[in-house]
Amino acid sequence: MRFISFASNGANRFGVLQGDRVTVYPERIASLDAYLALAFGAREALARETETLPLSGLQLRAPAHPRKNVFCVGRNYVDHAEEVARATGRELKLPSVPTFFTKAPTAIADPGAVLHLSAEISAQYDWEAELAVIIGTRCRDVAEADALSVIFGYTCLNDVTARDLQRSHQQWFKGKSLDQTCPIGPWIVSADEIPNPQTLAISLRVDGEIKQASNTSKMIFTVAAIIASLSRGLTLEPGDVIATGTPDGVGLARTPPEFLRDGQTMEVEIEKIGVLRNDIALR
Ligand code: MG
Repeated sequence: MRFISFASNGANRFGVLQGDRVTVYPERIASLDAYLALAFGAREALARETETLPLSGLQLRAPAHPRKNVFCVGRNYVDHAEEVARATGRELKLPSVPTFFTKAPTAIADPGAVLHLSAEISAQYDWEAELAVIIGTRCRDVAEADALSVIFGYTCLNDVTARDLQRSHQQWFKGKSLDQTCPIGPWIVSADEIPNPQTLAISLRVDGEIKQASNTSKMIFTVAAIIASLSRGLTLEPGDVIATGTPDGVGLARTPPEFLRDGQTMEVEIEKIGVLRNDIALR
């Protein structure tokens, strides 16, 4: 199933995409959080009190709005770790445990939204295509073998990063958390449709030109390993979002380095999920 959020008369609505039509849940189930709070039987019953709308013309919104920070993994593809080591003149040391950091929930942006970025705050906005995991079950100390069972679904995420701030503040948080630097979408694909998340082509285009093209098979830490490591002594909750790292091809590591410019369009595409598109307004 494909779960989508969209705007209707200024309010958020939530539903399921089937073909080119959206089965819209009632107003009391207007978000992923409200849906996840329902017992399984109540979810089934929803189907009896729905209306349908055509997808075309709907203004999509971010399919998840986590109440806490987005969990992220840095340097989770070997090729990306290598390109960053080369670009920064540092020795390549592959991590032995996942490098976790977070993005502020206020950084979440809608699919299709124009990202309004300030040229006064940063001169080095960069892209990072990532597979995002949406947690469906409250859990802790999840064994790697059981980890995929706590996942509600998957979506595309662009971990837009202000490289100069990431560098100058040393901790990555500020350079990763500016408003609108975490677009997600266009919808959440339920976990049953992606039984193995380590087989997905992942790419990013800027103005149609391919900048990143890889596969989730190249992750250093698999989705299951990430969940096992993160949940050790740390409770994960329904609606939590985990960004699983970006492959090689980021702007920082290109020769010469490339950063986002006013008017450009970014597209993150992940196999079996879809395309997350955002335009840049850099003033
Ligand atoms: Mg990232």
